[in-house]
Amino acid sequence: MAEPVTVLVANRGEIAVRVVRAVRELGHVAAVVVSDADRDSLAARLADQVVVLPGTASKDTYLDGAAVVAAALGVGASAIHPGYGFLSENAEFARSVVAAGLVWVGPSPDVIAVMGDKATALQQARAAGVPTVPGSDGVVPDVVTATAVAETIGFPVAIKAAAGGGGRGIRVVDSAAELAAQWDVTAAEALGAFGDGRLYLEKFIRRARHVEVQVFGDGHRFVHLHDRDCSLQRRHQKLVEEGPAPGLPDATRADLHESARRLAAEIGYVGAGTVEYLYDAEADSFHFIEMNTRIQVEHPVTEELLGVDLVQEQLAVALGAPLSFDQEDLVPRGHVLELRINAENPLMSFFPSPGTLTALTWPSGPGVRVDPGVTAGDTISPYYDSMIGKLVVRAADRAGAIARARRALAELELAGVQSTAGFVGAALADPVFGAAEHHTKHLEEQLDVLVAGLSSSSGGPGWSVAEPASERTVDA
Ligand code: ADP
Ligand code: ADP
Ligand code: MG
Repeated sequence: MAEPVTVLVANRGEIAVRVVRAVRELGHVAAVVVSDADRDSLAARLADQVVVLPGTASKDTYLDGAAVVAAALGVGASAIHPGYGFLSENAEFARSVVAAGLVWVGPSPDVIAVMGDKATALQQARAAGVPTVPGSDGVVPDVVTATAVAETIGFPVAIKAAAGGGGRGIRVVDSAAELAAQWDVTAAEALGAFGDGRLYLEKFIRRARHVEVQVFGDGHRFVHLHDRDCSLQRRHQKLVEEGPAPGLPDATRADLHESARRLAAEIGYVGAGTVEYLYDAEADSFHFIEMNTRIQVEHPVTEELLGVDLVQEQLAVALGAPLSFDQEDLVPRGHVLELRINAENPLMSFFPSPGTLTALTWPSGPGVRVDPGVTAGDTISPYYDSMIGKLVVRAADRAGAIARARRALAELELAGVQSTAGFVGAALADPVFGAAEHHTKHLEEQLDVLVAGLSSSSGGPGWSVAEPASERTVDA
């Protein structure tokens, strides 16, 4: 084992918990920064050291790069792990970490700068011979140019923010008139949300699946870690992820993996990354959309599928170790599903539902893994994203994994906030998903049906109300 060092976890919620656990398992010391609202969080309770960043707003705390670096130096940390979201894809922050003499757990700042900007990443992918969606060559300066580009590629067209992420900063338009009406609004929104209003255009693929490839590099070797399918989405946000992606022809799958691996090698990628594609099942073709230069929310799908620990691997590689696996060591085992359980109310347009979790009992049993952000009695605060935790199941095949996921969801007992658990359960029961014939818009098209089913079945499963066990026991 390497000499113990202190690693500062610059994040919150479930990913902070996940990273703290990996740091401790490797025999290192886990420090975590917390905002005032997160002083008693699960991550804080599990960490060896806690540094409070005064304030609650993200910009005063988790997004304050200078404060995070100062916290790391203050606890004598050697490295900073950024998790996902917040500062994880901020090249300037990564540079400031390195400049402070700390190890940055992630790819080099230069790689983040190119691949974290979605417009330059597309240009890089095209240069590497990776197929992309037809679209503009980089950022589009104004609406006149945008209209010309859109007319060449044909409507519908997606207007996308170069700095977008987390499913935000994307607008789909069907005509030149709509494009003209949406252009300035989208730019203004992107400027407000990401501090960067630059936009580019892409043909909008109507019936696509979201398929992505996990990659890893250590500066010498570059491997792919197979694929995940994240097509169950709402508003471009993933709700359920699985691996392997169902129904890909073997040759297509192999091409997809090799394309991602080659891109990683070409840019000298170090650490964990994900290359995202849209897959057109009818044409059996795939197109690069973006690369995420960080650990992703759905990384446990790959961990369970391949029996690896991606977060430990990130830490080990950043601290100078070579990759612990070769390409041929990475063999998928069965099928994995991940369900995001968020404190949102599906009956009210998925509005955040902050509050105290008066009850929270996770399922257990064969093939079940839970990556929690909170435990019973904790509060989902209104200041940050509303994830309660992730439920991950593995089984021998896809049908078995779906059955296991539904069984596990039915065991989940959660009270005090509204959650997406019931909605996710309904999505898993959808026959189109069962047949793997869904696409990224399927969930939205079925939304009314799925949500209507929820309200009429209230009082049934344990996720909507935590009933005392006795009420569910049939007297002999
Ligand atoms: P993944 O790609 O891992 O599935 P998401 O796209 O769901 O992850 O994003 C993970 C988290 O990071 C979310 O909380 C999201 O809001 C946040 N996030 C991702 N990209 C950005 C970005 N460019 N700006 C702000 N937040 C982001
Ligand atoms: P983010 O950075 O927010 O994750 P992505 O570029 O990965 O943004 O897109 C998020 C989702 O939006 C995709 O998974 C897909 O469902 C949808 N999407 C993005 N671009 C397109 C496109 N050109 N055609 C169809 N769907 C798209
Ligand atoms: Mg994406």
